[in-house]
Amino acid sequence: MAILIVDDSADDRLLVQSILSAANYDQILTADSAAGAFHLLGLDGDQHEAARIDLILMDIMMPDMSGIEACRQIKATERFRDTPIIMVTVKTDPVELQLAFAAGALDYIAKPVNKVELLTRVRSVLRLVHEIDRRKAHEQELLEVMRQLQEANQMLLRLSSLDGLTGITNRRQFDDFLDQEWRRAVREVAPLSLIMLDIDRFKSYNDALGHTSGDECLRQVALAISGAVNRPGDLVARYGGDEFVVVLPGTRTDGAAQVAETLRQRIQSLDITHADGKGLTISVGSASIIPSRNSSATELVKAADQALYRAKQEGRNRAKQAGILTLVPHSDED
Ligand code: GH3
Ligand code: MG
Repeated sequence: MAILIVDDSADDRLLVQSILSAANYDQILTADSAAGAFHLLGLDGDQHEAARIDLILMDIMMPDMSGIEACRQIKATERFRDTPIIMVTVKTDPVELQLAFAAGALDYIAKPVNKVELLTRVRSVLRLVHEIDRRKAHEQELLEVMRQLQEANQMLLRLSSLDGLTGITNRRQFDDFLDQEWRRAVREVAPLSLIMLDIDRFKSYNDALGHTSGDECLRQVALAISGAVNRPGDLVARYGGDEFVVVLPGTRTDGAAQVAETLRQRIQSLDITHADGKGLTISVGSASIIPSRNSSATELVKAADQALYRAKQEGRNRAKQAGILTLVPHSDED
Protein backbone atom coordinates (compact mmCIF):
# COMPACT_ATOMS: atom_id res chain seq x y z
CA MET A 1 0.00 0.00 0.00
CA ALA A 2 1.49 3.35 -1.06
CA ILE A 3 0.99 6.41 1.13
CA LEU A 4 1.66 9.99 0.08
CA ILE A 5 2.45 12.57 2.78
CA VAL A 6 1.90 16.18 1.73
CA ASP A 7 3.19 18.74 4.22
CA ASP A 8 5.25 21.91 3.91
CA SER A 9 6.91 21.26 7.26
CA ALA A 10 9.92 18.97 6.91
CA ASP A 11 9.72 18.04 10.61
CA ASP A 12 6.07 17.01 10.37
CA ARG A 13 6.74 15.00 7.20
CA LEU A 14 9.60 13.21 8.88
CA LEU A 15 7.58 12.47 12.02
CA VAL A 16 4.66 10.95 10.10
CA GLN A 17 7.02 9.08 7.80
CA SER A 18 8.98 7.56 10.67
CA ILE A 19 5.81 6.43 12.50
CA LEU A 20 4.53 4.76 9.33
CA SER A 21 7.90 3.21 8.47
CA ALA A 22 8.19 1.78 11.99
CA ALA A 23 4.76 0.21 11.45
CA ASN A 24 6.08 -1.51 8.29
CA TYR A 25 4.49 0.71 5.66
CA ASP A 26 7.31 0.59 3.17
CA GLN A 27 5.96 2.58 0.22
CA ILE A 28 5.94 6.14 1.46
CA LEU A 29 6.22 9.15 -0.78
CA THR A 30 6.46 12.75 0.36
CA ALA A 31 5.71 16.16 -1.15
CA ASP A 32 6.30 19.58 0.41
CA SER A 33 3.47 21.32 -1.45
CA ALA A 34 0.26 20.76 -3.42
CA ALA A 35 2.30 21.25 -6.63
CA GLY A 36 4.74 18.54 -5.53
CA ALA A 37 1.81 16.20 -4.83
CA PHE A 38 0.24 16.95 -8.23
CA HIS A 39 3.54 16.11 -9.89
CA LEU A 40 3.76 12.72 -8.15
CA LEU A 41 0.11 11.99 -9.00
CA GLY A 42 0.64 12.95 -12.64
CA LEU A 43 -1.80 15.86 -12.40
CA ASP A 44 0.57 18.60 -13.55
CA GLY A 45 0.38 17.78 -17.24
CA ASP A 46 3.93 16.47 -17.20
CA GLN A 47 4.23 13.28 -19.28
CA HIS A 48 5.70 10.91 -16.71
CA GLU A 49 4.44 7.76 -15.14
CA ALA A 50 2.30 8.60 -12.10
CA ALA A 51 2.86 6.71 -8.87
CA ARG A 52 0.08 4.47 -7.58
CA ILE A 53 -1.19 5.98 -4.34
CA ASP A 54 -3.60 4.26 -1.97
CA LEU A 55 -3.82 6.97 0.67
CA ILE A 56 -2.96 10.66 0.91
CA LEU A 57 -2.18 12.41 4.21
CA MET A 58 -2.66 16.09 3.48
CA ASP A 59 -1.67 19.10 5.58
CA ILE A 60 -4.26 21.90 5.38
CA MET A 61 -2.09 24.94 5.96
CA MET A 62 0.41 25.19 3.15
CA PRO A 63 1.71 28.19 1.22
CA ASP A 64 0.59 28.64 -2.44
CA MET A 65 -2.28 26.16 -2.41
CA SER A 66 -4.07 25.01 0.73
CA GLY A 67 -4.57 21.32 1.44
CA ILE A 68 -8.34 21.75 1.05
CA GLU A 69 -8.03 23.11 -2.49
CA ALA A 70 -5.47 20.43 -3.37
CA CYS A 71 -7.88 17.81 -2.03
CA ARG A 72 -10.73 19.22 -4.14
CA GLN A 73 -8.63 19.14 -7.31
CA ILE A 74 -7.35 15.62 -6.72
CA LYS A 75 -10.85 14.32 -6.02
CA ALA A 76 -12.16 15.98 -9.17
CA THR A 77 -9.92 13.65 -11.17
CA GLU A 78 -11.69 10.43 -12.19
CA ARG A 79 -8.57 8.35 -11.40
CA PHE A 80 -8.55 9.50 -7.76
CA ARG A 81 -12.29 9.49 -7.12
CA ASP A 82 -11.91 6.59 -4.70
CA THR A 83 -8.47 7.49 -3.30
CA PRO A 84 -8.92 8.38 0.37
CA ILE A 85 -7.48 11.65 1.68
CA ILE A 86 -6.93 12.22 5.40
CA MET A 87 -6.37 15.81 6.47
CA VAL A 88 -3.54 16.32 8.97
CA THR A 89 -4.06 19.67 10.60
CA VAL A 90 -3.60 21.99 13.53
CA LYS A 91 -6.84 23.67 12.47
CA THR A 92 -9.61 21.58 13.92
CA ASP A 93 -12.35 24.18 14.02
CA PRO A 94 -15.65 22.81 12.66
CA VAL A 95 -15.92 25.24 9.72
CA GLU A 96 -12.48 24.34 8.43
CA LEU A 97 -13.17 20.62 8.79
CA GLN A 98 -16.53 21.00 7.08
CA LEU A 99 -14.75 22.60 4.13
CA ALA A 100 -12.26 19.74 4.07
CA PHE A 101 -15.02 17.13 4.03
CA ALA A 102 -16.88 19.05 1.33
CA ALA A 103 -13.68 18.96 -0.72
CA GLY A 104 -13.69 15.16 -0.49
CA ALA A 105 -11.57 14.41 2.59
CA LEU A 106 -12.47 11.14 4.28
CA ASP A 107 -11.12 11.83 7.76
CA TYR A 108 -8.77 14.09 9.73
CA ILE A 109 -5.97 13.76 12.23
CA ALA A 110 -5.06 16.61 14.58
CA LYS A 111 -1.53 17.97 14.86
CA PRO A 112 0.66 17.35 16.77
CA VAL A 113 0.30 13.84 15.44
CA ASN A 114 -0.36 11.13 17.95
CA LYS A 115 1.23 7.84 16.92
CA VAL A 116 -1.65 5.55 17.98
CA GLU A 117 -4.28 7.79 16.42
CA LEU A 118 -2.35 8.05 13.15
CA LEU A 119 -1.82 4.31 12.83
CA THR A 120 -5.41 3.47 13.77
CA ARG A 121 -6.86 5.83 11.18
CA VAL A 122 -4.41 4.82 8.46
CA ARG A 123 -5.08 1.17 9.08
CA SER A 124 -8.88 1.53 8.93
CA VAL A 125 -8.77 3.68 5.79
CA LEU A 126 -6.43 1.26 4.03
CA ARG A 127 -8.73 -1.58 4.97
CA LEU A 128 -11.49 0.38 3.27
CA VAL A 129 -9.32 0.89 0.16
CA HIS A 130 -8.63 -2.82 0.07
CA GLU A 131 -12.36 -3.57 0.29
CA ILE A 132 -13.16 -1.08 -2.50
CA ASP A 133 -10.46 -2.68 -4.71
CA ARG A 134 -11.85 -6.12 -4.00
CA ARG A 135 -15.37 -5.01 -4.94
CA LYS A 136 -14.16 -3.32 -8.11
CA ALA A 137 -12.33 -6.48 -9.16
CA HIS A 138 -15.45 -8.50 -8.37
CA GLU A 139 -17.55 -6.09 -10.46
CA GLN A 140 -15.14 -6.49 -13.37
CA GLU A 141 -15.34 -10.26 -13.07
CA LEU A 142 -19.13 -10.08 -13.11
CA LEU A 143 -19.13 -7.85 -16.18
CA GLU A 144 -16.80 -10.29 -17.93
CA VAL A 145 -19.01 -13.25 -17.03
CA MET A 146 -22.06 -11.35 -18.33
CA ARG A 147 -20.26 -10.58 -21.59
CA GLN A 148 -19.33 -14.22 -22.03
CA LEU A 149 -22.89 -15.25 -21.26
CA GLN A 150 -24.26 -12.88 -23.88
CA GLU A 151 -21.79 -14.24 -26.42
CA ALA A 152 -22.77 -17.81 -25.60
CA ASN A 153 -26.47 -16.94 -25.89
CA GLN A 154 -25.94 -15.44 -29.31
CA MET A 155 -23.98 -18.48 -30.41
CA LEU A 156 -26.73 -20.77 -29.10
CA LEU A 157 -29.38 -18.79 -30.97
CA ARG A 158 -27.32 -19.04 -34.15
CA LEU A 159 -26.91 -22.76 -33.70
CA SER A 160 -30.49 -23.22 -32.65
CA SER A 161 -33.20 -23.97 -35.11
CA LEU A 162 -35.74 -21.66 -33.49
CA ASP A 163 -36.59 -18.05 -34.20
CA GLY A 164 -35.78 -15.95 -31.14
CA LEU A 165 -38.91 -13.79 -31.30
CA THR A 166 -41.71 -16.20 -32.15
CA GLY A 167 -40.24 -19.50 -30.98
CA ILE A 168 -41.19 -21.24 -34.25
CA THR A 169 -38.65 -22.71 -36.70
CA ASN A 170 -36.21 -20.16 -38.08
CA ARG A 171 -35.09 -19.44 -41.61
CA ARG A 172 -31.90 -21.49 -41.34
CA GLN A 173 -33.75 -24.63 -40.26
CA PHE A 174 -36.43 -24.01 -42.92
CA ASP A 175 -33.75 -23.99 -45.64
CA ASP A 176 -32.38 -27.32 -44.40
CA PHE A 177 -35.86 -28.83 -44.05
CA LEU A 178 -36.97 -27.75 -47.52
CA ASP A 179 -33.79 -29.13 -49.04
CA GLN A 180 -34.33 -32.45 -47.30
CA GLU A 181 -38.02 -32.65 -48.30
CA TRP A 182 -37.14 -31.66 -51.85
CA ARG A 183 -34.72 -34.55 -52.19
CA ARG A 184 -37.24 -36.94 -50.66
CA ALA A 185 -39.95 -35.76 -53.09
CA VAL A 186 -37.57 -36.28 -56.02
CA ARG A 187 -36.82 -39.82 -54.84
CA GLU A 188 -40.43 -40.69 -54.18
CA VAL A 189 -41.86 -38.72 -57.12
CA ALA A 190 -44.17 -37.08 -54.60
CA PRO A 191 -45.78 -33.63 -54.56
CA LEU A 192 -44.43 -30.83 -52.41
CA SER A 193 -46.20 -27.56 -51.63
CA LEU A 194 -44.97 -24.32 -50.21
CA ILE A 195 -46.98 -21.43 -48.79
CA MET A 196 -45.54 -17.96 -48.23
CA LEU A 197 -47.50 -15.37 -46.34
CA ASP A 198 -46.86 -11.82 -45.28
CA ILE A 199 -48.74 -9.51 -42.94
CA ASP A 200 -50.52 -6.70 -44.74
CA ARG A 201 -49.18 -3.20 -44.14
CA PHE A 202 -47.28 -4.34 -41.09
CA LYS A 203 -44.94 -1.39 -41.24
CA SER A 204 -47.79 0.99 -40.44
CA TYR A 205 -48.89 -1.35 -37.61
CA ASN A 206 -45.41 -0.94 -36.09
CA ASP A 207 -45.35 2.77 -36.75
CA ALA A 208 -48.74 3.35 -35.14
CA LEU A 209 -48.63 0.91 -32.23
CA GLY A 210 -44.92 0.57 -31.54
CA HIS A 211 -42.36 -2.13 -32.09
CA THR A 212 -43.26 -4.02 -28.90
CA SER A 213 -46.86 -4.41 -30.04
CA GLY A 214 -45.49 -5.35 -33.46
CA ASP A 215 -43.43 -8.12 -31.87
CA GLU A 216 -46.44 -9.36 -29.91
CA CYS A 217 -48.50 -9.38 -33.10
CA LEU A 218 -45.82 -11.48 -34.86
CA ARG A 219 -45.97 -13.97 -31.98
CA GLN A 220 -49.77 -14.22 -32.23
CA VAL A 221 -49.64 -14.72 -36.00
CA ALA A 222 -46.91 -17.39 -35.62
CA LEU A 223 -48.99 -19.21 -33.01
CA ALA A 224 -52.15 -19.07 -35.11
CA ILE A 225 -50.41 -20.38 -38.23
CA SER A 226 -48.73 -23.18 -36.29
CA GLY A 227 -52.09 -24.13 -34.81
CA ALA A 228 -53.74 -24.24 -38.22
CA VAL A 229 -51.19 -26.52 -39.86
CA ASN A 230 -51.52 -29.92 -38.31
CA ARG A 231 -50.15 -32.77 -40.43
CA PRO A 232 -47.10 -34.36 -38.77
CA GLY A 233 -44.75 -33.76 -41.72
CA ASP A 234 -45.68 -30.08 -42.18
CA LEU A 235 -43.40 -27.26 -41.12
CA VAL A 236 -44.18 -23.65 -40.23
CA ALA A 237 -41.24 -21.23 -40.13
CA ARG A 238 -40.53 -17.53 -39.87
CA TYR A 239 -38.96 -16.61 -43.18
CA GLY A 240 -37.93 -13.15 -41.98
CA GLY A 241 -39.57 -9.89 -40.84
CA ASP A 242 -43.35 -10.30 -41.16
CA GLU A 243 -43.07 -13.15 -43.63
CA PHE A 244 -43.80 -16.80 -42.80
CA VAL A 245 -43.51 -20.02 -44.79
CA VAL A 246 -45.27 -23.35 -44.57
CA VAL A 247 -43.86 -26.52 -46.13
CA LEU A 248 -46.44 -29.17 -46.93
CA PRO A 249 -44.80 -32.43 -48.04
CA GLY A 250 -47.02 -34.83 -49.94
CA THR A 251 -49.58 -32.09 -50.53
CA ARG A 252 -50.93 -31.17 -53.96
CA THR A 253 -52.15 -27.90 -55.45
CA ASP A 254 -55.70 -28.07 -54.13
CA GLY A 255 -54.59 -29.10 -50.65
CA ALA A 256 -52.13 -26.19 -50.54
CA ALA A 257 -54.85 -23.77 -51.73
CA GLN A 258 -57.11 -25.01 -48.97
CA VAL A 259 -54.46 -24.54 -46.27
CA ALA A 260 -53.60 -21.10 -47.67
CA GLU A 261 -57.22 -19.98 -47.42
CA THR A 262 -57.56 -21.46 -43.93
CA LEU A 263 -54.53 -19.47 -42.80
CA ARG A 264 -55.91 -16.27 -44.26
CA GLN A 265 -59.23 -16.76 -42.48
CA ARG A 266 -57.56 -17.82 -39.25
CA ILE A 267 -55.54 -14.59 -39.06
CA GLN A 268 -58.57 -12.46 -39.91
CA SER A 269 -60.56 -14.16 -37.17
CA LEU A 270 -57.88 -13.30 -34.61
CA ASP A 271 -59.42 -9.84 -34.81
CA ILE A 272 -56.16 -8.00 -34.14
CA THR A 273 -56.89 -4.29 -34.58
CA HIS A 274 -54.66 -2.71 -37.23
CA ALA A 275 -53.48 0.91 -37.27
CA ASP A 276 -56.53 1.97 -39.31
CA GLY A 277 -58.93 0.36 -36.81
CA LYS A 278 -59.74 -2.53 -39.17
CA GLY A 279 -58.69 -6.13 -38.60
CA LEU A 280 -55.15 -7.32 -39.30
CA THR A 281 -54.90 -9.47 -42.45
CA ILE A 282 -52.32 -11.46 -44.38
CA SER A 283 -51.65 -12.09 -48.05
CA VAL A 284 -50.80 -15.63 -49.05
CA GLY A 285 -49.06 -17.24 -52.03
CA SER A 286 -48.72 -20.95 -52.63
CA ALA A 287 -46.94 -23.17 -55.13
CA SER A 288 -46.86 -26.91 -55.63
CA ILE A 289 -44.63 -29.23 -57.62
CA ILE A 290 -43.60 -32.81 -58.14
CA PRO A 291 -39.89 -32.06 -58.28
CA SER A 292 -37.51 -33.58 -60.77
CA ARG A 293 -33.74 -33.84 -60.58
CA ASN A 294 -33.19 -30.90 -62.88
CA SER A 295 -35.33 -28.46 -60.89
CA SER A 296 -34.46 -26.85 -57.56
CA ALA A 297 -36.23 -25.89 -54.35
CA THR A 298 -35.40 -22.26 -55.08
CA GLU A 299 -37.89 -22.37 -57.97
CA LEU A 300 -40.65 -23.43 -55.59
CA VAL A 301 -39.80 -20.61 -53.17
CA LYS A 302 -39.69 -18.12 -56.03
CA ALA A 303 -43.05 -19.29 -57.39
CA ALA A 304 -44.75 -19.03 -53.97
CA ASP A 305 -43.20 -15.60 -53.52
CA GLN A 306 -44.54 -14.47 -56.90
CA ALA A 307 -48.01 -15.70 -55.99
CA LEU A 308 -47.75 -13.75 -52.74
CA TYR A 309 -46.71 -10.69 -54.69
CA ARG A 310 -49.82 -11.06 -56.87
CA ALA A 311 -52.01 -11.35 -53.76
CA LYS A 312 -50.54 -8.03 -52.57
CA GLN A 313 -50.98 -6.44 -55.98
CA GLU A 314 -54.58 -7.49 -56.24
CA GLY A 315 -55.52 -5.77 -52.99
CA ARG A 316 -54.10 -7.91 -50.13
CA ASN A 317 -56.06 -10.13 -47.71
CA ARG A 318 -56.25 -12.91 -50.29
CA ALA A 319 -54.58 -16.20 -51.23
CA LYS A 320 -53.10 -16.77 -54.69
CA GLN A 321 -51.56 -19.79 -56.35
CA ALA A 322 -48.48 -19.89 -58.51
CA GLY A 323 -49.27 -20.35 -62.18
CA ILE A 324 -46.19 -21.82 -63.77
CA LEU A 325 -45.40 -24.46 -61.22
CA THR A 326 -48.91 -25.68 -60.66
CA LEU A 327 -47.97 -28.86 -62.45
CA VAL A 328 -49.43 -31.17 -59.87
CA PRO A 329 -52.73 -32.75 -60.75
CA HIS A 330 -55.57 -32.37 -58.25
CA SER A 331 -55.92 -35.26 -55.87
CA ASP A 332 -59.11 -37.10 -55.06
CA GLU A 333 -58.66 -36.66 -51.32
CA ASP A 334 -59.18 -33.46 -49.23
P1 GH3 B 1 -47.20 -5.14 -47.28
O1 GH3 B 1 -48.66 -5.22 -47.07
O2 GH3 B 1 -46.83 -4.76 -48.66
O3 GH3 B 1 -46.48 -6.37 -46.83
O4 GH3 B 1 -46.72 -3.92 -46.35
P2 GH3 B 1 -45.77 -3.99 -45.13
O5 GH3 B 1 -45.81 -2.68 -44.45
O6 GH3 B 1 -46.07 -5.17 -44.28
O7 GH3 B 1 -44.40 -4.15 -45.86
P3 GH3 B 1 -43.30 -5.19 -45.56
O8 GH3 B 1 -43.85 -6.56 -45.45
O9 GH3 B 1 -42.20 -4.99 -46.55
O10 GH3 B 1 -42.80 -4.64 -44.16
C1 GH3 B 1 -42.37 -5.47 -43.18
C2 GH3 B 1 -42.36 -4.70 -41.92
O11 GH3 B 1 -42.31 -5.60 -40.85
C3 GH3 B 1 -41.15 -3.83 -41.76
C4 GH3 B 1 -40.95 -3.77 -40.29
O12 GH3 B 1 -41.56 -2.61 -39.81
C5 GH3 B 1 -41.72 -4.96 -39.76
N1 GH3 B 1 -40.88 -5.95 -39.10
C6 GH3 B 1 -39.99 -6.79 -39.64
N2 GH3 B 1 -39.43 -7.56 -38.68
C7 GH3 B 1 -39.99 -7.21 -37.50
C8 GH3 B 1 -39.84 -7.64 -36.14
O13 GH3 B 1 -39.06 -8.54 -35.80
N3 GH3 B 1 -40.58 -7.04 -35.21
C9 GH3 B 1 -41.47 -6.04 -35.54
N4 GH3 B 1 -42.18 -5.49 -34.57
N5 GH3 B 1 -41.62 -5.62 -36.79
C10 GH3 B 1 -40.91 -6.18 -37.77
MG1 MG C 1 -45.86 -7.13 -44.88
